[in-house]
Amino acid sequence: MTDSASTGTDSVRELDGDTVERIAAGEVITRPARVVAELVENALDAGAERIDVAVDGDGTERIRVADDGHGMGRADAALAVEPHTTSKIRDASDLAVADSLGFRGEALASVADAGTLELTTNADGSGGEGDASDGTGRTGEGDVGTRVRVADGETTVADAGRARGTTVEVTDLFADRPARRESLASPAREFGCVSELVADYALARPEVAFSLSHDGRETLRTPGTGTTDALVAVYDREAAGHATAFDHRAELGSRIELRAEGALVAPAVTRSTREHVHLAVNGRPVTNEALRRAVVAGYGTLLPSGREPVAVVRLSLPAAAVDANVHPAKERVALREGDAVADAVETGVRDALTTADLRRSGEVAMDLDSSLAPVEGADSEFADATVIGQFRDLYVLCETDDGLLVVDQHAAHERVNFERLRAALADEAVPSAEVDPAATVSLDPGAAAAVEGNADALAELGFAFDRFGGTTYRVTGAPAPLGRVADADALGETAASLDGGEADPREAALADLACHPSLKAGDALDRETASRLVERLGECEQPHACPHGRPTTLTVGEATLADGFERHGRR
Ligand code: ADP
Ligand code: MG
Repeated sequence: MTDSASTGTDSVRELDGDTVERIAAGEVITRPARVVAELVENALDAGAERIDVAVDGDGTERIRVADDGHGMGRADAALAVEPHTTSKIRDASDLAVADSLGFRGEALASVADAGTLELTTNADGSGGEGDASDGTGRTGEGDVGTRVRVADGETTVADAGRARGTTVEVTDLFADRPARRESLASPAREFGCVSELVADYALARPEVAFSLSHDGRETLRTPGTGTTDALVAVYDREAAGHATAFDHRAELGSRIELRAEGALVAPAVTRSTREHVHLAVNGRPVTNEALRRAVVAGYGTLLPSGREPVAVVRLSLPAAAVDANVHPAKERVALREGDAVADAVETGVRDALTTADLRRSGEVAMDLDSSLAPVEGADSEFADATVIGQFRDLYVLCETDDGLLVVDQHAAHERVNFERLRAALADEAVPSAEVDPAATVSLDPGAAAAVEGNADALAELGFAFDRFGGTTYRVTGAPAPLGRVADADALGETAASLDGGEADPREAALADLACHPSLKAGDALDRETASRLVERLGECEQPHACPHGRPTTLTVGEATLADGFERHGRR
């Protein structure tokens, strides 16, 4: 390696080729997530319909990206790992019109330079799975695939069995770059970056099936069947269920055709942070602050103050209108006519939300992040509490002015959800969702009698049902106050609890409904979420008990601790 600092002279000199390479590579391959991005883009450029990403540890141990794209013949595979080799452009004149994600022809070489790279590929597709290096000496393109390995600057080429497609495995990343290794965050953080990145690609290319696993455990899988399913995988059913598809076309000043399409999640589901506006330009996830702000502006006043939207906005623009070269890793883009593009995006989003069925936005979103949004103008009884930890993934421990406050996270979240639900529904009937096909439930005679006796109350709680004969009922509607539909089986239980002489049967039923989406014991909470939970609990009308009447908090006064440790009169 060239180390100019150790030569001890100050003269300006030209760097040798190897160094130039390293500087350039250093710009692109800064962390494991960048390797994943380059490999995923290559897979997409190869027309893959399925891309499987696996990461071990912080990614320096192993990154593997497998695709079912068109693969490479042997000669191409051997050439592809060399610097400045690409099949995507021929010369600079193609640059302006390149519609592929890659074109610089340096990614594989840079990755190979930063770690050990093994590329297994087959352009034909009749080769089997597994290693089929059979020593027959066949080297042409046929049913035998190719394995190219670059380790310590040595390239070896061999036969390998593989179905059509390409697998690239990178190990020992940054093994000889201690400074890069030092600059990496914890494995969890580095994997977090990979995870966000893969999610971004999955939302930018929802027609491609993506999977991601970490240390052998699958953490994300999208089916490749469109935006809604990708949203379910990246977020949850709640967010996906509130999503409205949109497709907006505009012609900008200088005859630039723009298409903006994707999905906008209705503002019943929001987030506290900004990274949930997923932007893509011509198939590549990008960050662009002006475009993000345009999307938020399109939501306008629909967005509760201090909340951020969840949205997927994909732009198609003529390649000439986009300059991906402003950022070495192409994450940020510059747009010609940027203001006009932003205006068009804002209009597209606003129009889509105006025509969308916003009645759904009146529903109470019960996902964790939405549910902890602070109540405007409310003071939290626990404003002085500082979260100091979590015990058994069940209790949140806080330091307060008077001692130790212990919060049962499940009970606390239930209380929060219950009060939100009660406020949202006020005097209205609980929203109901159609159960289709209708569910048949058989009840024991006691429960059936309770159903008969409370038919009106059950209807008000969102059940639609009729008697099928005997003690069997056909349920055609179920309460869906949380955007999630209760089980048809809940009919019997709810009827029984209505019969149980509860002071307010409606409240009792709401309490049960609030319970389902609440945090469970065993859910690890990060400190920020835990603080928001405690703070939000403190804003409840009755913060000290869950809707079923169990305590939500326990205070261990400082005096109790002092007594226990016999610190009488001392500190
Ligand atoms: P670029 O993508 O800029 O062309 P890369 O170094 O990333 O440069 O890749 C070099 C070449 O290797 C590509 O142009 C392409 O022809 C080939 N290639 C890389 N990855 C794949 C893949 N997963 N499937 C098929 N071909 C690939
Ligand atoms: Mg590439």
